[in-house]
Formats: sequence, structure tokens, C-alpha cells
Amino acid sequence: MKKTGTFLVGFHVPIAGGFVAAASYASSLKINAMQIFSKNPRGWSSKPVDKAEAIEFRAQRKKAGIKFVMIHTCYLLNLASQDEELRKKSVKALAAELERAELLGADCLNTHVGSCKGCPPEDGIKTVARSVNEAFKLCVKSPVLVLENTSRLRPSIGGSFRDLGAVINLVEDKSRIGICLDTAHAFGAGYDVRSAAGLNSLLKEIDSEIGLAKLRAIHFNDSKAVLGSGIDRHEHLGRGEIGKAGVSLLLKNPKLKDLPFIMETPRSSPEDDRKNIATVLKLRVFA
Ligand SMILES: [Zn+2]
Repeated sequence: MKKTGTFLVGFHVPIAGGFVAAASYASSLKINAMQIFSKNPRGWSSKPVDKAEAIEFRAQRKKAGIKFVMIHTCYLLNLASQDEELRKKSVKALAAELERAELLGADCLNTHVGSCKGCPPEDGIKTVARSVNEAFKLCVKSPVLVLENTSRLRPSIGGSFRDLGAVINLVEDKSRIGICLDTAHAFGAGYDVRSAAGLNSLLKEIDSEIGLAKLRAIHFNDSKAVLGSGIDRHEHLGRGEIGKAGVSLLLKNPKLKDLPFIMETPRSSPEDDRKNIATVLKLRVFA
């Protein structure tokens, strides 16, 4: 993505009313980045994206000044599965997700790597890379696929940036792959982003294992769970264990400043989103 110098910030936005309504909701919050599902995230089936609706979504997005759109894959995908039937089903579903993301004009497609249910981590890593390579062959043109870190370290994979780097190493077309840093997940996995030293060592690890240029987006969430808990529970910005000081550090880090910050914070009404965006803008003031 081009560096615009503009602070890119937004939310995961519901698509219950369709893609166009999602863009309108984003516009009502005055955000310039958003994430959506392109289908029901809890089911395998998907009807193709309606071409006319995709065109309207792109137009609405442009009109609303939304500079970054990321699609999140459905939750059922397991690219690491050692059950060949489930893995193949996941590859097909990922290829379909890549295609829908392309049609919607998204900038990135975000996915979890899945779990190999206790298999040796090296096997899980190889399996994820094989699945990604196969999906790229099924869908040859798409936005960049970003792998999201999880909140758990060993024995599962995806909690450490070394794992994600090992996967990327085995992906044939590296121009099509990157990562998304979820701050709550990183915190759950034991990366202490509350301190400058902790955040710097995390960014150093990303740089040495993957390369910072491959970091394409931030899932910007506070955490209900404590450091290293292995638990994935998102909290409103500044009100969780990462807290205001940690949130502010993340927002002001020069290495992250050109990346889109997408919140996946709890929402019982639009008021929650308005509060979170206000918190972010308040904590991003540079002295
Ligand atoms: Zn996330």
C-alpha cells in the first residue's frame, strides 16, 4: 500500500445490511479504514459476491474516503489441518475468499493459520504454507493475504512471529503474502506491548523473522486477559490490560505510523465505536 502520511484508522464493521451499508456505517463514523467479512463467518457455504453490489461498494468506499479495506476470512478455515479432507476444503474456501476480496477491491485479506491439534509445529508450519501455495494457484490474482498472529504459543502455531516467518519462507509467491499484528493476541501470547522495551523487542522480532515491510495492518485491540494468558478476549481501547499508556505507545510508534489500525473492539451499539475512536484520537496526540 502507498504511504499517504494520513493516519489510517477504523473498525471491523458488520455486513448484516450488506457491503454498501457497511461502507455507509464506516462513513458515519468518519473512519478511513475498515474490515469486513465477505460472507457469514461461521458457515462454509457462500454465494458469489454480486458484481453490481461489488461495484456499488467500491464507489461508496471511494466517496466515503475509505483508504484501506481488509476482508477477514471465515472462522472455519484450518490451513494447518492434518486431516486432508478438511485441509482441502479450507484451501478451496481460502481461494474463494481471495476471489471475493479481489472483486470487492480490498487491499488485504486477513486469515488465521489454524491449528494442527498437537502435531509437531514444523509439520503445522509446512502444512499452512502448502495450503497457501495451493490457494494461490487456484486464485491467481488477489489482494495480499495477511496471516494474523494468535494469542497462544506452543503447542499451537501462529502465536509467535517466528512461526509466521517460517510459513512465509515456504510460500512460493512472497509478493502475495504478509502479516497482520493483533495487539491483544500478541499480549495474550506474552509480548508485553505496554512498555517501550517490550514493543521494541516485538518489532525487532517481526523485522528479523519476517521483515517489517511485510507487516501490512494492525488489529488494534486492548485485552481483557492478562499478559501471557494465552486467552483471546478483546477489550475497549485503554480499558483493558494493555491500558492507556500501552495504547498510546502503539499509536505513536514511528515504525507503525503508516499502517492501518483496525479495531475489533466490543460493540453493543455505535456509541461503543464512537468512544473507541475518540480514545484513539485522544491518545495519539504527539507532545
Ligand atoms: Zn484480530
